[in-house]
Amino acid sequence: MSADLLELSAAAAAAEIASGGLSAGELFDFYRERAGADRDAGEQGLGCFTWVAEGAPETPAGAPLGGVPLAVKDLFCTEDVPSQSGSRILEGYLPPYTATAVARLQEAGATLLAKTNQDEFAMGSSTENSAFGPTLNPWDRSRVPGGSSGGSAAAVAAGLAPWALGTDTGGSIRQPAALCGVVGLKPTYGTVSRYGMIAFASSLDQAGPITRDVTDAALLLSHMVARDPCDATSVQAPSELVLPSAERLDGVTLGVPGELTGEGIEAGVLEGFNAALRRAEELGASVREVQLPHAPHALSAYYVLAPAEASSNLARYDGVRYGLRAEGAEDLIDMYTRTRHDGFGPEVKRRIMLGTYALSSGYYDAYYGHAQRVRTKIAEDFTKAFEEVDLIATPTAPSVAFALGEKTGDPLEMYLNDYCTVPMSLAGIPAISIPCALSDGLPVGLQLAGPAFSESRLLDAAHALEQGLAFDGARARV
Ligand code: GLN
Repeated sequence: MSADLLELSAAAAAAEIASGGLSAGELFDFYRERAGADRDAGEQGLGCFTWVAEGAPETPAGAPLGGVPLAVKDLFCTEDVPSQSGSRILEGYLPPYTATAVARLQEAGATLLAKTNQDEFAMGSSTENSAFGPTLNPWDRSRVPGGSSGGSAAAVAAGLAPWALGTDTGGSIRQPAALCGVVGLKPTYGTVSRYGMIAFASSLDQAGPITRDVTDAALLLSHMVARDPCDATSVQAPSELVLPSAERLDGVTLGVPGELTGEGIEAGVLEGFNAALRRAEELGASVREVQLPHAPHALSAYYVLAPAEASSNLARYDGVRYGLRAEGAEDLIDMYTRTRHDGFGPEVKRRIMLGTYALSSGYYDAYYGHAQRVRTKIAEDFTKAFEEVDLIATPTAPSVAFALGEKTGDPLEMYLNDYCTVPMSLAGIPAISIPCALSDGLPVGLQLAGPAFSESRLLDAAHALEQGLAFDGARARV
Protein backbone atom coordinates (compact mmCIF):
# COMPACT_ATOMS: atom_id res chain seq x y z
CA MET A 1 0.00 0.00 0.00
CA SER A 2 2.86 2.40 0.85
CA ALA A 3 4.20 2.52 -2.70
CA ASP A 4 0.66 3.12 -3.90
CA LEU A 5 0.19 5.99 -1.48
CA LEU A 6 3.20 7.69 -3.00
CA GLU A 7 1.61 7.40 -6.44
CA LEU A 8 -1.48 9.35 -5.37
CA SER A 9 -1.66 13.05 -6.17
CA ALA A 10 -3.08 15.18 -3.35
CA ALA A 11 -6.41 15.53 -5.18
CA ALA A 12 -6.56 11.77 -5.71
CA ALA A 13 -5.74 11.17 -2.04
CA ALA A 14 -8.53 13.56 -0.97
CA ALA A 15 -10.93 11.65 -3.23
CA GLU A 16 -9.80 8.30 -1.78
CA ILE A 17 -10.37 9.58 1.74
CA ALA A 18 -13.79 10.95 0.80
CA SER A 19 -14.84 7.61 -0.66
CA GLY A 20 -13.65 5.71 2.40
CA GLY A 21 -10.86 3.86 0.56
CA LEU A 22 -8.15 5.50 2.64
CA SER A 23 -8.06 6.90 6.15
CA ALA A 24 -6.73 10.38 6.77
CA GLY A 25 -4.69 9.05 9.70
CA GLU A 26 -2.96 6.43 7.55
CA LEU A 27 -2.00 9.02 4.94
CA PHE A 28 -0.74 11.41 7.61
CA ASP A 29 1.40 8.75 9.28
CA PHE A 30 2.84 7.72 5.92
CA TYR A 31 4.01 11.25 5.15
CA ARG A 32 4.96 12.07 8.73
CA GLU A 33 7.33 9.12 8.70
CA ARG A 34 8.86 10.17 5.38
CA ALA A 35 9.25 13.80 6.45
CA GLY A 36 10.55 12.79 9.87
CA ALA A 37 13.15 10.49 8.29
CA ASP A 38 14.46 13.40 6.20
CA ARG A 39 14.70 15.63 9.27
CA ASP A 40 16.37 12.91 11.35
CA ALA A 41 18.90 12.19 8.59
CA GLY A 42 20.45 15.64 9.19
CA GLU A 43 23.13 16.32 6.62
CA GLN A 44 22.51 12.93 5.01
CA GLY A 45 18.96 14.01 4.14
CA LEU A 46 17.63 16.66 1.76
CA GLY A 47 17.14 19.23 4.52
CA CYS A 48 13.58 20.04 3.47
CA PHE A 49 12.10 20.64 6.91
CA THR A 50 12.55 22.95 9.87
CA TRP A 51 9.83 21.23 11.91
CA VAL A 52 7.78 18.03 11.52
CA ALA A 53 4.46 17.33 13.30
CA GLU A 54 4.31 14.74 16.07
CA GLY A 55 0.88 13.29 15.51
CA ALA A 56 -2.07 13.52 13.17
CA PRO A 57 -4.45 16.36 14.01
CA GLU A 58 -8.21 15.80 13.94
CA THR A 59 -9.89 16.54 10.63
CA PRO A 60 -13.47 17.76 10.50
CA ALA A 61 -15.58 15.01 8.91
CA GLY A 62 -16.50 15.65 5.29
CA ALA A 63 -13.96 18.46 4.85
CA PRO A 64 -13.15 18.95 1.14
CA LEU A 65 -9.40 18.49 1.55
CA GLY A 66 -10.13 15.40 3.61
CA GLY A 67 -7.12 15.33 5.92
CA VAL A 68 -4.47 15.54 3.20
CA PRO A 69 -1.21 16.60 4.93
CA LEU A 70 0.32 19.93 3.94
CA ALA A 71 3.89 21.22 4.21
CA VAL A 72 4.10 24.96 4.85
CA LYS A 73 7.02 27.31 4.25
CA ASP A 74 8.62 28.37 7.52
CA LEU A 75 7.60 32.04 7.10
CA PHE A 76 3.88 31.36 7.59
CA CYS A 77 2.95 31.96 11.21
CA THR A 78 1.50 28.75 12.66
CA GLU A 79 0.12 28.87 16.18
CA ASP A 80 2.54 27.43 18.76
CA VAL A 81 4.68 25.94 15.97
CA PRO A 82 8.15 27.40 15.31
CA SER A 83 8.04 30.01 12.52
CA GLN A 84 11.41 31.63 11.89
CA SER A 85 11.41 32.56 8.20
CA GLY A 86 14.73 30.73 7.99
CA SER A 87 16.35 33.28 10.30
CA ARG A 88 18.34 33.06 13.51
CA ILE A 89 16.76 36.30 14.66
CA LEU A 90 13.40 34.54 15.13
CA GLU A 91 14.88 31.62 17.09
CA GLY A 92 12.38 30.39 19.64
CA TYR A 93 9.49 32.42 18.26
CA LEU A 94 6.14 30.63 18.63
CA PRO A 95 3.40 32.67 16.96
CA PRO A 96 0.19 33.12 18.94
CA TYR A 97 -1.87 32.82 15.74
CA THR A 98 -1.98 31.13 12.34
CA ALA A 99 -1.66 32.88 8.97
CA THR A 100 -5.00 33.24 7.18
CA ALA A 101 -3.90 31.19 4.13
CA VAL A 102 -2.92 28.26 6.36
CA ALA A 103 -5.97 28.61 8.61
CA ARG A 104 -8.28 28.52 5.59
CA LEU A 105 -6.65 25.33 4.35
CA GLN A 106 -6.93 23.76 7.79
CA GLU A 107 -10.62 24.66 7.88
CA ALA A 108 -10.95 22.90 4.53
CA GLY A 109 -9.40 19.76 6.05
CA ALA A 110 -5.66 20.06 5.26
CA THR A 111 -3.46 18.95 8.16
CA LEU A 112 -0.17 20.63 9.09
CA LEU A 113 2.55 18.07 8.34
CA ALA A 114 5.72 20.15 8.50
CA LYS A 115 7.34 23.55 8.07
CA THR A 116 9.79 23.83 5.19
CA ASN A 117 13.23 25.31 4.82
CA GLN A 118 13.73 28.57 2.94
CA ASP A 119 16.18 31.37 2.31
CA GLU A 120 16.28 33.74 5.28
CA PHE A 121 13.28 36.11 5.05
CA ALA A 122 12.73 34.69 1.53
CA MET A 123 15.78 36.49 0.20
CA GLY A 124 17.50 34.20 -2.25
CA SER A 125 17.17 31.83 -5.17
CA SER A 126 18.87 28.71 -3.83
CA THR A 127 17.78 28.03 -0.21
CA GLU A 128 21.43 28.37 0.78
CA ASN A 129 20.70 31.52 2.85
CA SER A 130 18.98 29.66 5.68
CA ALA A 131 19.95 29.58 9.35
CA PHE A 132 19.06 25.87 9.18
CA GLY A 133 21.57 25.10 6.43
CA PRO A 134 20.80 24.37 2.79
CA THR A 135 18.17 22.16 1.19
CA LEU A 136 19.40 19.80 -1.54
CA ASN A 137 17.79 19.12 -4.91
CA PRO A 138 16.33 15.58 -5.00
CA TRP A 139 17.21 15.23 -8.71
CA ASP A 140 20.90 15.72 -7.87
CA ARG A 141 22.01 16.26 -4.30
CA SER A 142 25.04 18.27 -5.32
CA ARG A 143 22.70 20.96 -6.67
CA VAL A 144 20.38 23.59 -5.20
CA PRO A 145 16.59 23.23 -5.24
CA GLY A 146 16.13 26.91 -6.13
CA GLY A 147 14.65 29.37 -3.70
CA SER A 148 13.48 30.87 -1.65
CA SER A 149 10.74 28.20 -1.25
CA GLY A 150 13.31 25.43 -1.88
CA GLY A 151 12.24 23.26 1.07
CA SER A 152 8.64 23.16 -0.19
CA ALA A 153 9.65 22.41 -3.79
CA ALA A 154 12.18 19.72 -2.87
CA ALA A 155 9.73 18.09 -0.41
CA VAL A 156 7.01 17.80 -3.05
CA ALA A 157 9.44 16.59 -5.73
CA ALA A 158 10.92 13.96 -3.40
CA GLY A 159 7.49 12.74 -2.30
CA LEU A 160 8.08 13.80 1.32
CA ALA A 161 4.87 15.85 1.28
CA PRO A 162 1.86 15.54 -1.02
CA TRP A 163 1.76 19.30 -1.55
CA ALA A 164 3.12 22.50 -0.04
CA LEU A 165 2.75 26.22 0.40
CA GLY A 166 5.36 28.66 -0.80
CA THR A 167 5.60 32.39 -1.21
CA ASP A 168 6.75 34.38 -4.20
CA THR A 169 8.09 37.93 -4.09
CA GLY A 170 10.11 37.86 -7.29
CA GLY A 171 10.04 34.20 -8.26
CA SER A 172 10.33 32.17 -5.07
CA ILE A 173 7.48 29.77 -5.90
CA ARG A 174 8.05 29.46 -9.65
CA GLN A 175 11.85 29.20 -9.79
CA PRO A 176 12.24 26.39 -7.17
CA ALA A 177 9.26 24.60 -8.75
CA ALA A 178 11.11 24.75 -12.07
CA LEU A 179 14.42 23.54 -10.63
CA CYS A 180 12.71 20.64 -8.82
CA GLY A 181 10.37 19.55 -11.63
CA VAL A 182 7.09 20.38 -9.88
CA VAL A 183 4.24 22.89 -10.39
CA GLY A 184 4.30 26.32 -8.72
CA LEU A 185 1.70 29.06 -9.00
CA LYS A 186 1.99 32.69 -7.96
CA PRO A 187 -1.55 34.07 -7.84
CA THR A 188 -2.69 37.61 -8.67
CA TYR A 189 -1.40 39.98 -5.98
CA GLY A 190 -4.06 40.39 -3.30
CA THR A 191 -6.11 37.25 -3.98
CA VAL A 192 -4.52 35.35 -1.10
CA SER A 193 -4.24 37.03 2.28
CA ARG A 194 -0.75 37.98 3.47
CA TYR A 195 -1.92 38.12 7.09
CA GLY A 196 0.48 36.04 9.17
CA MET A 197 3.13 35.78 6.49
CA ILE A 198 6.42 37.05 7.90
CA ALA A 199 6.97 39.99 5.54
CA PHE A 200 9.75 40.51 3.02
CA ALA A 201 8.45 43.09 0.50
CA SER A 202 4.78 43.71 1.15
CA SER A 203 3.80 45.10 -2.26
CA LEU A 204 5.12 41.92 -3.91
CA ASP A 205 4.76 39.01 -1.43
CA GLN A 206 2.16 36.41 -2.46
CA ALA A 207 1.40 32.93 -1.13
CA GLY A 208 0.73 30.08 -3.52
CA PRO A 209 0.76 26.32 -4.05
CA ILE A 210 3.70 24.07 -4.93
CA THR A 211 2.34 20.74 -6.12
CA ARG A 212 2.96 17.64 -8.20
CA ASP A 213 0.46 18.62 -10.86
CA VAL A 214 -1.76 21.45 -12.07
CA THR A 215 -4.97 19.95 -10.68
CA ASP A 216 -3.47 19.88 -7.18
CA ALA A 217 -2.35 23.51 -7.57
CA ALA A 218 -5.86 24.57 -8.54
CA LEU A 219 -7.44 22.60 -5.71
CA LEU A 220 -5.10 24.04 -3.07
CA LEU A 221 -5.44 27.59 -4.38
CA SER A 222 -9.25 27.34 -4.51
CA HIS A 223 -9.28 26.96 -0.72
CA MET A 224 -6.81 29.80 -0.10
CA VAL A 225 -8.31 32.70 -2.02
CA ALA A 226 -10.64 35.08 -0.20
CA ARG A 227 -10.82 38.67 0.87
CA ASP A 228 -9.44 38.95 4.40
CA PRO A 229 -10.30 41.93 6.61
CA CYS A 230 -6.93 41.41 8.36
CA ASP A 231 -5.02 42.27 5.14
CA ALA A 232 -5.93 45.66 3.69
CA THR A 233 -4.41 44.74 0.30
CA SER A 234 -6.43 41.56 -0.07
CA VAL A 235 -9.21 41.54 -2.65
CA GLN A 236 -12.13 39.36 -3.59
CA ALA A 237 -11.43 37.80 -6.99
CA PRO A 238 -14.19 38.80 -9.44
CA SER A 239 -15.02 35.19 -10.29
CA GLU A 240 -14.71 31.85 -8.59
CA LEU A 241 -11.79 29.58 -9.43
CA VAL A 242 -12.81 26.74 -11.75
CA LEU A 243 -10.79 23.51 -11.50
CA PRO A 244 -8.94 22.80 -14.76
CA SER A 245 -10.20 20.24 -17.26
CA ALA A 246 -8.90 21.34 -20.71
CA GLU A 247 -7.06 18.75 -22.78
CA ARG A 248 -6.47 21.04 -25.76
CA LEU A 249 -5.38 24.61 -26.42
CA ASP A 250 -7.62 25.46 -29.37
CA GLY A 251 -8.26 29.19 -29.56
CA VAL A 252 -5.48 30.05 -27.10
CA THR A 253 -2.84 32.50 -28.32
CA LEU A 254 0.50 32.29 -26.53
CA GLY A 255 2.80 35.31 -26.73
CA VAL A 256 6.54 34.73 -26.53
CA PRO A 257 8.50 37.83 -25.51
CA GLY A 258 11.88 38.07 -27.23
CA GLU A 259 13.17 40.01 -24.22
CA LEU A 260 12.82 36.96 -21.92
CA THR A 261 13.70 34.17 -24.33
CA GLY A 262 17.04 35.21 -25.75
CA GLU A 263 20.38 36.21 -24.30
CA GLY A 264 21.27 34.73 -20.93
CA ILE A 265 19.01 31.70 -21.18
CA GLU A 266 20.92 28.39 -21.22
CA ALA A 267 20.75 26.49 -24.54
CA GLY A 268 19.27 23.33 -22.98
CA VAL A 269 16.55 25.39 -21.29
CA LEU A 270 15.63 27.14 -24.54
CA GLU A 271 15.54 23.80 -26.34
CA GLY A 272 13.10 22.34 -23.80
CA PHE A 273 11.03 25.52 -23.87
CA ASN A 274 10.81 25.59 -27.67
CA ALA A 275 9.88 21.91 -27.83
CA ALA A 276 7.06 22.62 -25.35
CA LEU A 277 5.83 25.48 -27.55
CA ARG A 278 5.69 23.11 -30.53
CA ARG A 279 3.67 20.71 -28.38
CA ALA A 280 1.34 23.58 -27.50
CA GLU A 281 0.83 24.23 -31.21
CA GLU A 282 0.02 20.57 -31.80
CA LEU A 283 -2.59 20.92 -29.07
CA GLY A 284 -4.21 23.77 -30.98
CA ALA A 285 -2.52 26.90 -29.59
CA SER A 286 -1.23 29.64 -31.82
CA VAL A 287 2.16 30.98 -30.83
CA ARG A 288 3.40 34.43 -31.77
CA GLU A 289 5.98 36.93 -30.73
CA VAL A 290 5.04 39.71 -28.34
CA GLN A 291 6.97 42.68 -26.97
CA LEU A 292 7.67 43.48 -23.32
CA PRO A 293 10.12 46.34 -23.96
CA HIS A 294 10.69 47.25 -20.30
CA ALA A 295 11.05 43.69 -18.98
CA PRO A 296 14.87 43.78 -19.15
CA HIS A 297 14.75 46.58 -16.53
CA ALA A 298 12.58 44.58 -14.12
CA LEU A 299 15.46 43.15 -12.09
CA SER A 300 17.02 46.57 -11.54
CA ALA A 301 13.71 48.02 -10.36
CA TYR A 302 13.03 44.98 -8.17
CA TYR A 303 16.41 45.23 -6.45
CA VAL A 304 15.58 48.79 -5.40
CA LEU A 305 11.94 48.21 -4.42
CA ALA A 306 12.21 44.85 -2.64
CA PRO A 307 15.19 45.82 -0.43
CA ALA A 308 13.55 49.20 0.32
CA GLU A 309 10.42 47.49 1.60
CA ALA A 310 12.47 44.84 3.37
CA SER A 311 14.58 47.41 5.21
CA SER A 312 11.40 48.87 6.61
CA ASN A 313 9.70 45.53 7.38
CA LEU A 314 12.78 44.14 9.13
CA ALA A 315 13.17 47.15 11.42
CA ARG A 316 10.87 45.36 13.88
CA TYR A 317 13.52 42.74 14.75
CA ASP A 318 15.33 44.55 17.52
CA GLY A 319 15.56 41.95 20.27
CA VAL A 320 12.64 43.44 22.16
CA ARG A 321 9.52 41.82 20.77
CA TYR A 322 10.42 38.52 19.13
CA GLY A 323 13.02 35.79 19.02
CA LEU A 324 16.69 36.36 19.65
CA ARG A 325 18.15 38.91 22.08
CA ALA A 326 21.92 39.28 22.23
CA GLU A 327 23.50 38.82 25.68
CA GLY A 328 25.90 41.16 27.40
CA ALA A 329 24.82 44.47 25.87
CA GLU A 330 25.92 47.68 27.57
CA ASP A 331 22.80 49.69 26.81
CA LEU A 332 19.68 49.64 24.64
CA ILE A 333 21.36 50.74 21.39
CA ASP A 334 24.11 48.20 21.95
CA MET A 335 21.46 45.50 22.48
CA TYR A 336 19.72 46.41 19.20
CA THR A 337 23.03 46.42 17.33
CA ARG A 338 24.32 43.14 18.70
CA THR A 339 20.99 41.38 18.20
CA ARG A 340 20.79 42.43 14.56
CA HIS A 341 24.47 41.68 14.04
CA ASP A 342 24.11 38.15 15.43
CA GLY A 343 20.60 37.41 14.19
CA PHE A 344 20.69 38.36 10.50
CA GLY A 345 22.69 36.54 7.83
CA PRO A 346 24.84 38.32 5.22
CA GLU A 347 22.25 38.48 2.41
CA VAL A 348 19.65 40.01 4.72
CA LYS A 349 22.17 42.58 5.95
CA ARG A 350 23.03 43.41 2.33
CA ARG A 351 19.36 44.03 1.52
CA ILE A 352 18.81 46.16 4.62
CA MET A 353 21.77 48.33 3.67
CA LEU A 354 20.67 48.63 0.03
CA GLY A 355 17.11 49.44 1.03
CA THR A 356 18.00 51.93 3.74
CA TYR A 357 20.27 53.75 1.31
CA ALA A 358 17.62 53.80 -1.44
CA LEU A 359 15.10 55.32 0.96
CA SER A 360 17.41 57.90 2.51
CA SER A 361 16.43 61.54 2.10
CA GLY A 362 17.95 63.09 -0.97
CA TYR A 363 18.06 59.73 -2.77
CA TYR A 364 14.46 58.66 -2.33
CA ASP A 365 13.20 59.93 -5.67
CA ALA A 366 16.35 59.04 -7.60
CA TYR A 367 16.04 55.38 -6.58
CA TYR A 368 12.67 54.43 -5.12
CA GLY A 369 10.60 56.90 -7.17
CA HIS A 370 12.42 55.97 -10.35
CA ALA A 371 11.99 52.25 -9.72
CA GLN A 372 8.27 52.75 -9.13
CA ARG A 373 7.97 54.47 -12.51
CA VAL A 374 9.75 51.54 -14.17
CA ARG A 375 7.33 49.22 -12.37
CA THR A 376 4.38 51.08 -13.92
CA LYS A 377 5.94 50.80 -17.40
CA ILE A 378 6.36 47.06 -16.93
CA ALA A 379 2.71 46.67 -15.89
CA GLU A 380 1.65 48.73 -18.95
CA ASP A 381 3.71 46.45 -21.24
CA PHE A 382 1.74 43.46 -19.99
CA THR A 383 -1.61 45.23 -20.41
CA LYS A 384 -0.70 45.99 -24.00
CA ALA A 385 0.58 42.49 -24.69
CA PHE A 386 -2.65 40.96 -23.35
CA GLU A 387 -4.60 42.95 -25.96
CA GLU A 388 -2.87 40.76 -28.55
CA VAL A 389 -2.38 37.40 -26.82
CA ASP A 390 -4.17 35.38 -24.12
CA LEU A 391 -1.14 34.23 -22.16
CA ILE A 392 2.59 34.87 -22.16
CA ALA A 393 5.05 31.98 -22.23
CA THR A 394 8.70 32.08 -21.12
CA PRO A 395 11.20 29.73 -19.57
CA THR A 396 10.79 30.00 -15.77
CA ALA A 397 14.48 30.20 -14.96
CA PRO A 398 17.51 30.88 -17.17
CA SER A 399 19.25 27.65 -16.14
CA VAL A 400 18.59 24.23 -14.67
CA ALA A 401 19.55 23.59 -11.03
CA PHE A 402 23.11 24.79 -10.39
CA ALA A 403 25.71 23.40 -8.00
CA LEU A 404 25.58 24.20 -4.28
CA GLY A 405 27.97 27.05 -3.56
CA GLU A 406 28.31 27.98 -7.25
CA LYS A 407 26.64 31.40 -6.94
CA THR A 408 26.85 32.23 -3.24
CA GLY A 409 29.94 34.38 -3.74
CA ASP A 410 28.38 36.51 -6.47
CA PRO A 411 25.06 38.12 -5.48
CA LEU A 412 24.45 39.62 -8.94
CA GLU A 413 24.82 36.22 -10.58
CA MET A 414 22.33 34.85 -8.02
CA TYR A 415 19.87 37.70 -8.71
CA LEU A 416 19.81 36.81 -12.44
CA ASN A 417 17.90 33.62 -11.59
CA ASP A 418 14.75 35.70 -11.37
CA TYR A 419 15.16 37.44 -14.71
CA CYS A 420 12.05 35.78 -16.18
CA THR A 421 9.85 35.80 -13.06
CA VAL A 422 10.32 39.30 -11.59
CA PRO A 423 8.39 41.18 -14.33
CA MET A 424 5.14 39.36 -13.43
CA SER A 425 5.72 40.06 -9.73
CA LEU A 426 6.13 43.78 -10.37
CA ALA A 427 2.94 43.76 -12.46
CA GLY A 428 1.03 41.77 -9.80
CA ILE A 429 -0.22 39.26 -12.37
CA PRO A 430 -0.60 35.49 -11.96
CA ALA A 431 2.00 33.09 -13.36
CA ILE A 432 2.52 29.35 -13.17
CA SER A 433 5.57 27.18 -13.74
CA ILE A 434 5.13 23.63 -15.01
CA PRO A 435 7.92 21.14 -15.72
CA CYS A 436 8.31 20.80 -19.49
CA ALA A 437 11.53 18.90 -20.25
CA LEU A 438 14.81 17.54 -18.96
CA SER A 439 18.14 19.08 -19.86
CA ASP A 440 21.19 17.10 -18.78
CA GLY A 441 18.82 15.01 -16.68
CA LEU A 442 17.55 18.06 -14.78
CA PRO A 443 14.07 19.61 -15.00
CA VAL A 444 13.28 22.69 -17.11
CA GLY A 445 10.31 24.89 -16.17
CA LEU A 446 7.91 26.64 -18.51
CA GLN A 447 6.17 29.75 -17.23
CA LEU A 448 2.72 30.88 -18.33
CA ALA A 449 1.44 34.29 -17.22
CA GLY A 450 -1.99 35.86 -17.68
CA PRO A 451 -3.82 39.09 -16.86
CA ALA A 452 -4.86 39.79 -13.26
CA PHE A 453 -7.53 37.35 -12.01
CA SER A 454 -7.11 34.99 -15.00
CA GLU A 455 -6.14 32.04 -12.77
CA SER A 456 -8.88 29.74 -14.09
CA ARG A 457 -7.80 30.26 -17.70
CA LEU A 458 -4.13 30.00 -16.78
CA LEU A 459 -4.66 26.73 -14.92
CA ASP A 460 -6.75 25.31 -17.76
CA ALA A 461 -4.02 26.05 -20.32
CA ALA A 462 -1.33 24.70 -17.99
CA HIS A 463 -3.41 21.55 -17.48
CA ALA A 464 -3.79 20.94 -21.23
CA LEU A 465 -0.08 21.46 -21.79
CA GLU A 466 0.81 19.27 -18.83
CA GLN A 467 -1.25 16.42 -20.31
CA GLY A 468 0.41 16.93 -23.68
CA LEU A 469 3.94 17.03 -22.28
CA ALA A 470 3.53 14.06 -19.90
CA PHE A 471 6.60 15.02 -17.86
CA ASP A 472 7.59 12.23 -15.45
CA GLY A 473 8.62 13.60 -12.07
CA ALA A 474 8.56 10.25 -10.26
CA ARG A 475 12.33 9.81 -10.66
CA ALA A 476 13.04 12.43 -8.01
CA ARG A 477 11.10 10.62 -5.29
CA VAL A 478 13.17 9.18 -2.49
N1 GLN B 1 15.24 35.54 -5.49
C1 GLN B 1 14.53 36.79 -5.31
C2 GLN B 1 15.12 37.53 -4.15
O1 GLN B 1 16.09 37.08 -3.62
C3 GLN B 1 13.08 36.52 -5.10
C4 GLN B 1 12.77 35.97 -3.76
C5 GLN B 1 11.35 35.74 -3.52
O2 GLN B 1 10.54 35.67 -4.45
N2 GLN B 1 10.99 35.68 -2.25
O3 GLN B 1 14.65 38.54 -3.74
